Amino acid sequence: MVAPRILILGPPGAGKGTQSSNLAQEYGVEHVTTGDALRANKQMDISDMDAEYDTPAAYMDAGDLVPDKVVNAIVEKALSQANGFVLDGYPRNLEQAAELEGMTDLDVVLSLDVSREELIDRLTGRRVCDDCSANYHVEFSPPEEAGVCDECGGDLIQRDDDNEGSVRNRLDVFDENTQPVIDHYRNDDDFVVIDGEQTPGEVWADIRAAVDAQIE
Ligand SMILES: [Zn+2]
Repeated sequence: MVAPRILILGPPGAGKGTQSSNLAQEYGVEHVTTGDALRANKQMDISDMDAEYDTPAAYMDAGDLVPDKVVNAIVEKALSQANGFVLDGYPRNLEQAAELEGMTDLDVVLSLDVSREELIDRLTGRRVCDDCSANYHVEFSPPEEAGVCDECGGDLIQRDDDNEGSVRNRLDVFDENTQPVIDHYRNDDDFVVIDGEQTPGEVWADIRAAVDAQIE
């Protein structure tokens, strides 16, 4: 069996990370995220790209946003080195989707569909331990004692990113930039919508069936 090339799309809180891990394990492919690809290629020579700095690391050290053309080059390198992949967190916009078409062919495009209200519940309920960074959810994965870490007894806090205003903002950014990417793939034969509001196990069963159907 050829290692599949999978793209997974979905808003923040849809479960892309969890399901990408399942895919990587089941099909023996690499989980490629923009962040990981950037960290792995920090020292890549980009001096010929007419960019401000000579390496991605220099942008990170300066606290500057890594420009799209550098991100594109890094993702292309990561995909070209992978024997099959699940790509997660890219493309974020239609320009990147056009870039991706020039980099590789995809075997299946998965879109995790979750309603906005459910995403807000999931994201605003997240809590993290201030001391050991253990993750909790007030509804879906609560600690034994509210506000206290099971692992170390530390205080559980809500990240600024996860308060309702920030969450709505992140979802707005997704709707504006990435929803058009989903619509762009919608009519392709290898595009599959997955009901992301089921349990993680049910979502995974649907995903596996969809990938198996596309690659057989
Ligand atoms: Zn803790």
